[in-house]
Amino acid sequence: MLDLTPMSVRDPARVPCCVSIDVEEYVHVEVARGVVDFNQWDDWPSRVERNVDLLLTLFDACGLRGTFFILGHVAQRHESMVKRIAQAGHEIASHGSNHQRLHQLNTETFRADVLACKKLLEDQTGQHVRGYRAPTFSVVRQTAWAIDVLVELGFEYDASIFPIRHPWYGVPTTPVSPFMVCNGSGSALLEVPPLVYRLGSWNLPAAGGGYFRLLPLVLMQWALAQACRQGRPAILYFHPWEFDPQMPRMPLSVTGRIRTYTGLRRAQSRLECIMRRSSRWSPIGDVLGELRALADTHPVFDLARCAVTHN
Ligand SMILES: [Zn+2]
Repeated sequence: MLDLTPMSVRDPARVPCCVSIDVEEYVHVEVARGVVDFNQWDDWPSRVERNVDLLLTLFDACGLRGTFFILGHVAQRHESMVKRIAQAGHEIASHGSNHQRLHQLNTETFRADVLACKKLLEDQTGQHVRGYRAPTFSVVRQTAWAIDVLVELGFEYDASIFPIRHPWYGVPTTPVSPFMVCNGSGSALLEVPPLVYRLGSWNLPAAGGGYFRLLPLVLMQWALAQACRQGRPAILYFHPWEFDPQMPRMPLSVTGRIRTYTGLRRAQSRLECIMRRSSRWSPIGDVLGELRALADTHPVFDLARCAVTHN
């Protein structure tokens, strides 16, 4: 049994672990861009309800509640599924409307995209949507303006900044535990970064997605144990299609196929292993007070300058 009991943290019982699900179809993956375009998405068979129901059953069996960042495009087509997620006691959060990376948007189009999804999810569930995760973790230095928009729209946290180096995303100089982020002189927002494994000065991604399916499971287990030892919350993420070996195959590039289709058959047993061997799973929204208290131990991070503020 993996021991997630922290050994030298401020208050070991108060280190939360959070499972999050980015609720989208397999056609929404970044590597399918240019292969299956936006106007072709509905031509492909939907698999999201089958896969979300599988996750809801798994979570129920483990007594786990999580955070579901739901894409507006999916919520529009599967309202009853959104309601099932909410009725099972999970947190409803936003993954935006149309799964466009923020680099493709500006302040106005981003505001419209995020507002439409937030309103849709709140109308469908009656839950106040407090959290946001950008498609492909695309809140980075160049899209720091997104923080101002999220604050303006009343979001209480963002979960989009990955503290790693990656060609598409990532800000490797941010803290690896929750922190407050701002865009220059704008208001600060609570940022909840995905789990990494610290190896010297390196941050290795260990929070989910392709890293969960392609790399040895022990990396995620080590990262969970290390985070708990260090008093860091562990935020994991998965996608419903990652638990669907039977999903239709898109004509992706070789690297796209490796990224998307490797490890699908073992994903469910791996997730069960992680869920059953951990101590405390909570929706992110349920532990915002604790996450905020941890964030307040760091200086505010100015994403526009990629540096901490000194006020
Ligand atoms: Zn996504």
